[in-house]
Amino acid sequence: MEVLRQAIASPENLQGRHISVALRCRRCGSAIETIDHILLTCPFARAAWLGTHMAFTIPEGDNFQLHQWLLTLSRSPYESKSQRRKVFSFVSFMCWTLWTTRNALYFEGKAGSLMEIIIKAEKAFRWYQSSMDVFNDQATSSTIMSSSSSNWFLLASETYKLNTNAAFTIDNRAGGI
Ligand SMILES: [Zn+2]
Repeated sequence: MEVLRQAIASPENLQGRHISVALRCRRCGSAIETIDHILLTCPFARAAWLGTHMAFTIPEGDNFQLHQWLLTLSRSPYESKSQRRKVFSFVSFMCWTLWTTRNALYFEGKAGSLMEIIIKAEKAFRWYQSSMDVFNDQATSSTIMSSSSSNWFLLASETYKLNTNAAFTIDNRAGGI
């Protein structure tokens, strides 16, 4: 599944769809809740990033944007390609966890503590890493290249791509991603 910036139903985007919602962030109450605020610049998000094993420090400023940070991360030196992949994998899991936790707060009233968020993202990341280790042990490099390269394409700048799975009940009354 591909989630684009404008497809995410934050209050900022919902307003453009003429849906009346409170614009202020429910975590800090001091800023308009944009995607960049939810995932990066909210004090809650900043503390979560810093509390991870990678101890990310999000640059100062309320207007700092996710695509800027990803660009900065992509230009940083890494020990290896593997390390670079790990960083971006973990960033993906943190973004996903912050987003789903935000939705749990809005739609289910579950606040979720800082520690719960960090542990959830860390667990998902470690599970993914161990799965990838098994996969890499079993597959030959030529098989990986031929199966993945045919589907890969360069995204336009300021475009976010998030791969995930969806599940639905048999009667299709409920679903989730
Ligand atoms: Zn906030």
